[in-house]
Amino acid sequence: MAAARRLVVIGGDAAGMAAASRARRLLGPDELEITAFERGGFTSYSACGIPYWIGGDVGSRDALIARSPEEHRARGIDLRLHTEVTAIDPERRRVRTGPASGGAEAAGQWTDFDDLVIATGARPLRPGLPGIDAPGVHGVQSLDDGQALLDTLEGLGPRARRAVVVGAGYIGVEMAEALVKRGFQVTVLDRAAQPMTTLDPDMGTLVHEAMDGMGIEVVTGAAVTGIRTGPDGRADAVRTESATYPADVVVLGLGVRPETGLAREAGLPLGESGGLLTDLAMRVRGHEHIWAGGDCVEVLDLVSGRTRHIALGTHANKHGQIIGANIGGDYATFPGVVGTAVSKVCDLEIARTGLLERQAADLGLRFVTVTADSTSRAGYYPKAATMRVKMLAERRTGRLLGTQIVGREGAGKRVDIAAVALTAGMTVEAMTALDLGYAPPFSPVWDPVLVAARKATAAVREDAD
Ligand SMILES: Cc1cc2nc3c(=O)[nH]c(=O)nc-3n(C[C@H](O)[C@H](O)[C@H](O)COP(=O)(O)OP(=O)(O)OC[C@H]3O[C@@H](n4cnc5c(N)ncnc54)[C@H](O)[C@@H]3O)c2cc1C
Repeated sequence: MAAARRLVVIGGDAAGMAAASRARRLLGPDELEITAFERGGFTSYSACGIPYWIGGDVGSRDALIARSPEEHRARGIDLRLHTEVTAIDPERRRVRTGPASGGAEAAGQWTDFDDLVIATGARPLRPGLPGIDAPGVHGVQSLDDGQALLDTLEGLGPRARRAVVVGAGYIGVEMAEALVKRGFQVTVLDRAAQPMTTLDPDMGTLVHEAMDGMGIEVVTGAAVTGIRTGPDGRADAVRTESATYPADVVVLGLGVRPETGLAREAGLPLGESGGLLTDLAMRVRGHEHIWAGGDCVEVLDLVSGRTRHIALGTHANKHGQIIGANIGGDYATFPGVVGTAVSKVCDLEIARTGLLERQAADLGLRFVTVTADSTSRAGYYPKAATMRVKMLAERRTGRLLGTQIVGREGAGKRVDIAAVALTAGMTVEAMTALDLGYAPPFSPVWDPVLVAARKATAAVREDAD
C-alpha cells in the first residue's frame, strides 16, 4: 500500500483547523497524515466572541471553543500544541519547529510535508510606546489575552472604575461596550477624526454621537504617546500629545497585520499589505504544494479589483474549507470579497459593504452619494428604531458601489442585502425592484435599503441630465 500523503498545518484556529477537518472528512488516515502545529494552547476558538465573554454576555471561555484539541485528535489529526513553526523550507518541503511558551517540543526538529497549509493569522499592532508592556495593558487577540484581561479586571479593587481603550475600530468599540457592561467609565482614544474609519467620516460621526450618548467618552485626533505607570509599575494613565487620561486598565485595539514573517523568510510571495498572495484555489502563487488562508492572506476585492488585507473570521473559515477540499481531492475556489463587515457598540449597529467614498475616488470612479433615514419596522409599530443608510452608485451606469448603515436594532444585518447586490453587480435601480419580505414588525413597506436605492436611482438620473 502506498504511504499516506503528509499534510502539515501551521496555526490551529479557524483557517488551519477548518482546512485540516475538511481534508480529514475527505481522506482517511491511511491516505493522509495530518499534523497541525499551534503555538498557543487552544484550537478552533472564536476570537470574535472575546468582547462578549469579557462583557459577560457569554458565560465562559470554553463556550468560545468550537472544537477542542481532544476532539481534533479523536478525528485523526496529530495536533501539537505549544509548538511554534520557526522556519519553512519550500524546496525540501519541510518545516522546523520549536517549543512555544509552555511547550515541550525539542527545538530545531524538522517535519516533512507533501502539502503545507499556512494559517498563521494576524498579529495585533503594538507600537513601541513607553509603558506599552506594563501590567494592566492588554490586547484581545487570543483567548489567553482575554483571560489575562479578565484576571486583571477581577483583580482590580472596587474603586477601580476607569478604562481606556486605544483605537476606535470595531474591536475597540466592541471592547468599549464590554467594559461599560462591567461597570467601567470608558474613554476611547483614536488619532483619526472619527471612530470607525471603516466608514465614511459622516457615518463615523453618527457613531461618535451615539457613543457620547451612551456615556462613552470618545476622543478623536488623539495620538497616544505613551502609557504612564504608577509606583507599583502598573499602567495608571494613557498620555496623548495634549492630555493624560487616568486608567485602571488599558485595552489596545489598534488593528492587525498579517502574520507572515515565516512566509517572508521562506521567499513566498507577499502583497502590498504584507499578506500572502494566493490563487483562487487558495494555493500560494507559484507553489504547487503550499496553501494559505485566513488573516495571513490578501483577498481579491471584487468591487475594486485589487487585493486587500481584511482580517475576518468569516473569510478564514471559508478559506479553510476551500483548502481542505482541494487537498482532499475535491475542487473549490474563493472568488473574493465585497468588503462586508458588521459590528455593534451597546445598542448601536454599524455595518458596511463595498467601497467608501475615498476608496471609490482613489480608484478613479465617479459616483453619486445619498443618505436615507428610515426605521427598522413600520413607523407605527412598537420599537421602530431609526437608522441611516448611505449608498454610493456609479455615475451613468448606476452600479452599486457601496453601502453603510448605522442604526439601532435591526439595522446592521440589512447590509447583507447590499452585499448580495454588490456581488451580483446590480444597479441601484435594479435593487429597487428586489422582492424583500415585508410585514410591519420587520420593516416599513419600503425597506430602508430600498429607500436608499430609490434615492440613489434618482440621483444617478439627475446627475445624467
Ligand atoms: C476581539 C476580536 C473580535 C473579532 N470579531 C470578529 C467578528 O465579529 N467577525 C469576524 O468575521 N471576525 C472577527 N474577528 C477576526 C477573527 O477572529 C479572525 O479573522 C480569525 O480568527 C482569523 O482566523 P485565522 O485562522 O486566519 O487566524 P487566527 O485566529 O489568528 O489563528 C492563527 C493561529 O496560528 C497560530 N500561529 C501563528 N504563527 C504560528 C507559528 N509560527 N507556529 C504555530 N502556530 C502559529 C496562532 O497562535 C493562532 O492560534 C475578531 C478578532 C478579534 C481579535
